[in-house]
Amino acid sequence: MSQTQLLSLNNPALLRQHSFVAGEWGEADSKEGMFAVYNPATGQQITTVAQGDVVKAIDAAAKAQVGFARTTAIERAAFLSRWHQLVLANLPDLAQILTAEQGKPLSEAEAEIRYAASFIEWFAGEAMRVQGDVLATTVPGQRLLNLKQPVGVVGAITPWNFPAAMVTRKLAPAFAAGCTVVLKPSELTPLTALALAFLAEQAGCGKGVLNVVCHQDAARVGQTLCTHDAVAKITFTGSTVVGKQLMQQASSGLKRLSLELGGNAPAIVFADADLDQAVAAIMAAKFRNAGQTCICVNRILVEASIAEVFNKRLEDAMKTLQVGPGFEPNHHIGPLISPQAVSKVDALVQSAIAEGAVVRFRGQVPAKRCAEISPAGLSSADLPPAELASADLSANFYPPTLLTHIKQSMAISQQEIFGPVAAVQTFVTDAEALALANEVKTGLAGYLFTRDQARIWHFSEQLQVGMLGINASAISQAHIPFGGVKESGFGREGSSYGIAEYLQIKHLCWG
Ligand code: ADP
Repeated sequence: MSQTQLLSLNNPALLRQHSFVAGEWGEADSKEGMFAVYNPATGQQITTVAQGDVVKAIDAAAKAQVGFARTTAIERAAFLSRWHQLVLANLPDLAQILTAEQGKPLSEAEAEIRYAASFIEWFAGEAMRVQGDVLATTVPGQRLLNLKQPVGVVGAITPWNFPAAMVTRKLAPAFAAGCTVVLKPSELTPLTALALAFLAEQAGCGKGVLNVVCHQDAARVGQTLCTHDAVAKITFTGSTVVGKQLMQQASSGLKRLSLELGGNAPAIVFADADLDQAVAAIMAAKFRNAGQTCICVNRILVEASIAEVFNKRLEDAMKTLQVGPGFEPNHHIGPLISPQAVSKVDALVQSAIAEGAVVRFRGQVPAKRCAEISPAGLSSADLPPAELASADLSANFYPPTLLTHIKQSMAISQQEIFGPVAAVQTFVTDAEALALANEVKTGLAGYLFTRDQARIWHFSEQLQVGMLGINASAISQAHIPFGGVKESGFGREGSSYGIAEYLQIKHLCWG
């Protein structure tokens, strides 16, 4: 029995097995071959997906672009509103697909689907708020106007850590602005993207307006998107290494770019902070999605005078974390996405220990066992014995780990951990805290915990980040500009700034 059959979807049509190109669910593209999608909690294959033809997808998007740009804002807003409603109506199924292919706890997957839907809702409104300008004139009889027009075909490349939200955060503003899209979702999590595309089609997305090219050869698809004449803009969320590569490739045709790349968020905890609040916020911002988010707390900088008290509270909070498959209730931390991810996290931990870090706490991972991991509706008793034997858990689980005595020079401070590891270093002065926070190449999110107003203002101005949580951890919402500085990339997603990334200004000087 494959996991496809184990997913108990109300709407089985949401589980797509083909790329979506030119309004077709892809038999025509089967020459590109198939690839398998796996459940990271079990290592079991969920299903296979037929790869799409990216050139065909670009051609379809280019063909649809002319007509789509001419649709009225209210038509696009109505389409987005219908899509939003369909996503919410199918939330339990979408969350199940997401947990199956990505691993995060079902409650987090449900929250992600709501978050993903909120971008569609927000940009349905923004479609109606695209405004040009009429300028003052200096020459009698002349009229000066600025038009805002869609940039054209968008190539969107999205990662596996938020398989729904990263897709809608790009597609919704593109559609609101009047741009057609070729989406290349992560080959590790294509099923959520395809389910969203299926709902977009049902919402009335015109042929070619959205194309989803699933492909294992991400480099080839990426290069084609970046160099094809018909693509006007690339929007990418992923690693800084790949972002730089795409920027180089896109430079040949000087394409518009939005890059949301890696982060290395500091959480700075001062002695005057409300420690209950700080620990709760850091727990949320560190361990969400098993630590696999680009705004995760990566470095915890604690004022030395409270380090012992803080570490004890963090340790106590971490002891409550339960690690296990996302479909089982009460788990806070699911598997990491792959064995390579586990190796990378462990290598950072081991090298930190070798350089003097102290393991203050290390949690447990579930033992490999016959798991009762079947999603809603099926208990292990419903499964035949052979299925139980093959339902052993994968080795992708990593124990929540608290490291102290961390130094800024360690690899674990300089790289994104992307795992459930809290790394604490100490500082003595404000100047030292600020220098440590800023001494990294990236600058996406930061978190500050203090009650001192002057300090809050000083750090707000001086921290090199695109987003700052001040005594807060939940810093992303649809109407908030999301994005970074330095090697975290450029461009903003969400908010009223988000749609600007998909619009260009044309000036009319009317004599
Ligand atoms: P992560 O480290 O989060 O996996 P990646 O940057 O590797 O981030 O992946 C993010 C997205 O970029 C995925 O859709 C992946 O398939 C795609 N990707 C990976 N390598 C390349 C590449 N060389 N060119 C274009 N896209 C790529």
